Amino acid sequence: MRDLITSIDSTRLGFFKSILDEAEISCFIRNETTSQLTNIFIGPLQPTLCLVDDADFERASGLLLPHQTEGACTAEEWICPACKESNPASFEVCWKCQAAPNE
Ligand SMILES: [Zn+2]
Repeated sequence: MRDLITSIDSTRLGFFKSILDEAEISCFIRNETTSQLTNIFIGPLQPTLCLVDDADFERASGLLLPHQTEGACTAEEWICPACKESNPASFEVCWKCQAAPNE
């Protein structure tokens, strides 16, 4: 098992997971629902997308790289007119609500 991406945005992690599912890479999200009890005893946990097989790491990273905006150049992002979510330039429709960008 290997951690791939940690994000407080579990919606985004779910989106990444769907990409890996489609590529038949075994993965799962842990800490998706953290209880208050957990936060008290071992600190707040962020949802993390994990790979079942470490050997898939490079392939998975390559698949998700175009979809990751954090730390990347943000100049080419477009903002969804419907839900105001930011999308990478390579996306033809909003990753969140499937709306098309305004030209
Ligand atoms: Zn949208």
